[in-house]
Amino acid sequence: MHQPPLSHLSAADPDLAGLIEAEARRQHDKVRLIASENYVSPAVLEATGSVLTNKYSEGYPGKRYYEGQQVVDPIEELAKARARELFGAAHANVQPYSGSPANLAVHLAFLNPGDTFLSLELAHGGHLTHGSPVSITGKWLRPVHYGVGRETGRVDMDQVRDLARAERPKVIFCGGTAIPRTIDFPAFAEVAREVGAVLVADIAHIAGLVAGGAHPSPVGYADVITTTTHKTLRGPRGAMILTTEEHATAIDKAIFPGLQGGPHNHTTAAIAVALKEAAQEDFKTYARQIVANARALAAALTARGFDLVSGGTDNHLILIDLTNKDIAGKPAAKALDRAGIELNFNTVPFDPRKPWSPSGIRLGTAAITTRGLTEEHMAFVAASIDQAIAAADDEATLDKIAGEIRELLAGFPMPGWAATP
Ligand SMILES: *Cc1c(COP(=O)(O)O)cnc(C)c1O
Repeated sequence: MHQPPLSHLSAADPDLAGLIEAEARRQHDKVRLIASENYVSPAVLEATGSVLTNKYSEGYPGKRYYEGQQVVDPIEELAKARARELFGAAHANVQPYSGSPANLAVHLAFLNPGDTFLSLELAHGGHLTHGSPVSITGKWLRPVHYGVGRETGRVDMDQVRDLARAERPKVIFCGGTAIPRTIDFPAFAEVAREVGAVLVADIAHIAGLVAGGAHPSPVGYADVITTTTHKTLRGPRGAMILTTEEHATAIDKAIFPGLQGGPHNHTTAAIAVALKEAAQEDFKTYARQIVANARALAAALTARGFDLVSGGTDNHLILIDLTNKDIAGKPAAKALDRAGIELNFNTVPFDPRKPWSPSGIRLGTAAITTRGLTEEHMAFVAASIDQAIAAADDEATLDKIAGEIRELLAGFPMPGWAATP
């Protein structure tokens, strides 16, 4: 049963309540390896579902365009203060609706149409909002991309420096959405300083690891840091931008009135809750366990002949090139889903296949670590992945694996669902 229980919804709209219950059950029964997903706490769920959704508050605390901000102002101030304190940043904006609008705000703050910026190629692990040709950031601006080495699978800082010197970008983005290795913030800062660019670290995936001390922090190196709040940071769907004093006003203006209207106050409150949770000692343990689980899973997959991009992982994320397993990413992901293992098909660097049916799959350990799985369970997870991929057309085997997964997970409670009578 969903936690907190959906008693009012069940009475008012049983169809929808039934669907939400089914989703909660699905999240309970599956090994969720989508690298951008997690399980938030019941406290975060309660804040997200609160009456704060009723309130409009365009502007910032102390300077709003609507009355009645006696309570919303301190809520937003609390979220901002917790963000500044957790990451050690001078300024925080907690209003971006999600990670993509947060990045748009960066573009709006520092670039004019046609201006050049430097970022990681989408197919090498970058994000759509880092200048993909199908994104407004690729259509209206002039992105130049660095990539990873064919052999190393890692960002090549010599290439970054050469491109920066040749192209003189106004903004340099580091970070991305499928990077299994540590981002070298000091090296990026050195390049940005040399060419006079604003350095932006997009830590959407690794924010929880940074907060928990399991990945180096970009604070002190990046001028601007964007992040979602719902991936490893384990908060509600939303985003934040952290900046130095120097860039605070430009970013605030770009979010409002540049891009957005009223902030989602229920989300702001839930972000504040998640930031408090992330400041606790046990969140450090959680962040370390995410990485330990990813390393153990990477080792177990490698032992089974899987070809990991960059040869392993430093963080929560594993990218696998399935070419040597004679299956593409999409049919593999679909078979795994039927076997109770949820992940996404993904492009790998230098992928000869198309993005809609690429060669790889992407996995992450943030959600299963929240469930309480540890290193000792990773051999079983790797074996299940291996068996399901080998039996991609064999429904009976996939069903059997899904049953074994359900059995394992029955011993690991899920925040947001409880097996009540
Ligand atoms: C997830 C992600 C985003 C976008 O977040 P949304 O909330 O999905 O808009 C931006 N940048 C990176 C690197 C991401 O991984």
